[in-house]
Amino acid sequence: MENIREQFDILNSTVYGKPLVYFDNAATTQKPRSVVDTLTRYYITLNSNIHRGAHYLSNTATEAYEQCRRKVQSFINAKHAHEIVFTRGTTESINLVASSFGKRFLNSGDEIVISGMEHHSNIVPWQLACQEKGAKLKVIPFSEQGVLDFEAFKQLLNEHTKLVAVNHVSNTLGSINPIKDIVQYAHSFNIPVLIDGAQGISHIGVDVQDIDCDFYCFSGHKMYAPMGVGVLYGKEEILNELPPYQGGGEMIKDVTFEKTTYNELPFKFEAGTPSVGDVLGLDAAIDFMNTIGINNIAQHEDMLLQYAMQQMQQIEGIRFIGTAPNKTSVISFLLGTSHPYDVGTLLDKLGIAVRTGHHCTQPIMERYGIPGTVRASFAVYNTTQEVDIFVNALKRIVPMLM
Ligand code: PMP
Repeated sequence: MENIREQFDILNSTVYGKPLVYFDNAATTQKPRSVVDTLTRYYITLNSNIHRGAHYLSNTATEAYEQCRRKVQSFINAKHAHEIVFTRGTTESINLVASSFGKRFLNSGDEIVISGMEHHSNIVPWQLACQEKGAKLKVIPFSEQGVLDFEAFKQLLNEHTKLVAVNHVSNTLGSINPIKDIVQYAHSFNIPVLIDGAQGISHIGVDVQDIDCDFYCFSGHKMYAPMGVGVLYGKEEILNELPPYQGGGEMIKDVTFEKTTYNELPFKFEAGTPSVGDVLGLDAAIDFMNTIGINNIAQHEDMLLQYAMQQMQQIEGIRFIGTAPNKTSVISFLLGTSHPYDVGTLLDKLGIAVRTGHHCTQPIMERYGIPGTVRASFAVYNTTQEVDIFVNALKRIVPMLM
């Protein structure tokens, strides 16, 4: 653990004179030195535009960029490297699919099925696509604990359903959804499935061939990589069917004023100059995760989750939001009737970074009839000592709020 923490300089900082306890990892993780060094090295030694230069720097940067594509392919066990499209993040990946899939396949009266525990970025792009084509959005309900209602999901599918889009893990409830079962059931009606993997990728191993999903989307910055880079995985057959998302350089084969023919996968979906340095940073972040091992990461975070839940249960007036039996290390809670923002502000003064509010999941808040939650979320570098500091801080602030 010391070896892991030592790679994150920011974890040694103090805020308001208190050692920083960083529990806002579901929003973004901190970056190990190897990732930051990769970014710096890229700009100092390699900066150039890729895929089109005839010179050393461009060729070397292109090779490094394409090497990262192969690394992502192997990290999520995709069948082909050209099924990996680099984007700015989960949000852009989902927008790409909603826009292109919508244009190609959606018609008036069609339906898209999502769940009630989606992040806004897996709701709004589908609303936009539906509005454009006169299609409808259908929503899978979930239980008080935060478990998707699988029977209700089955009932929602019909001959109008064109696609199912659900998250792997809820960023607010921590629930791990049964995505393999969802894919299997949807596929029995030939309905494709998109998985929002923003919270899945850094906490549980992802094997897209085993899951058999048609699309899997994630962000680099939630898995120790820089901001500004993400991935859309899509099966070759379906990506080939989709029209381009954006037009510009890179994504074309030939352009005349009369007609443009498009480049092959994955370049068809990578218009313009990509964020090369950030992609190389993602490569370094995958190395960081692979060195520890995803199973060890999951085990450590689960230990923290169990430990924290046990300690937090002793706190007077605490209410947990999201208690699914199968969940990752995201703890959403409320203290009595106090506003989540007040709890977050007091924790901040004690050096503890948590998130408060609706976490871009307003429909979840509506489901529970609450304005928001306080959310603590763990990463591989967090410790039980930090959980102790956090729980003691909560015990200190309870009397101030009640
Ligand atoms: N989906 C989920 C489940 C998320 O947690 C997030 C980030 N909070 C997103 C989508 C959006 O990710 P990004 O902002 O990196 O595009």
